[in-house]
Amino acid sequence: MARKEIGILLLLLSGASSRAQPEFDQIQIRAERVAGNVHVLYGGGGNIGVSVGPDGVLLVDDQYAPLAPKIRAALRTIAGDRPVRFVLNTHWHGDHTGGNEIFGETAPIIAQENVRKRLVTGGVLSNGRRFEPAPEGALPIITFDRKLSVHVNDEEIRGLHLERGHTDGDVVVYFTRSNVVHMGDQFVSGGFLPFVDFNSGGDLDGLIANIDQVIGTVPDDVRVIPGHGAVAGKPDLVAYSKMLKDTRAALRRAKSSRGSLEALLGDPVFRQYGWPEEEKRDFLGRLYRGIVDPR
Ligand SMILES: [Zn+2]
Repeated sequence: MARKEIGILLLLLSGASSRAQPEFDQIQIRAERVAGNVHVLYGGGGNIGVSVGPDGVLLVDDQYAPLAPKIRAALRTIAGDRPVRFVLNTHWHGDHTGGNEIFGETAPIIAQENVRKRLVTGGVLSNGRRFEPAPEGALPIITFDRKLSVHVNDEEIRGLHLERGHTDGDVVVYFTRSNVVHMGDQFVSGGFLPFVDFNSGGDLDGLIANIDQVIGTVPDDVRVIPGHGAVAGKPDLVAYSKMLKDTRAALRRAKSSRGSLEALLGDPVFRQYGWPEEEKRDFLGRLYRGIVDPR
């Protein structure tokens, strides 16, 4: 999670809406073509996947409600006046679903069952972020358990639920003709570190299994939209899987030796990754508290 986003959230939590607004004001939404019909929008929350074609626009995730006007403006540059017809959520976190209440006015929101359940209740993530119960209009009106396909813009867009990874409601979305996969927050790139949200049913073993399942399923030349960070490729998924396995091995060493968090942070396996100290401490600290020393 970006520190900037956490800052925005803290401002929102403190009720300082007059101060939060300029933060959103400063965020630019930038569109980039990925492959085939698919574009990505970078901005102030999770990356938005966009399918554009004769049937209109399908969004994968929608960042924050206050950014909706900028998202619409960015969509106009790639889709003209074509309407948003469908929204698919990769998981329930508010930086991916906050725009639901706006785009849900005209397009059905589609998500895995657990996404709707968690949006109804809201909750505190294991990194301390809190998302309030979502307004009625933000709730998915179409839910599914294992998989779902949307047939638009001359291709099958497949949503596949992978169990207990980043959360317990994660869906990866594969654009079958464009050969693009949106990973949600199960995969992040470009300096972002992974997040296992134990409070939302996340699981490190599950996350690794999910990444490996995707690696074993998608073509070698697939383009990969991460939940956060720049568009990547299959080799990046492979490297990410290895990094997660290195991390899991270090956690197991810490657990069996009853090692401290400091000892975990000093594990030589992490030297190759060159993570900034603060991000490393956040990332490993959460895993340590979740796996080695649960309270
Ligand atoms: Zn997330």
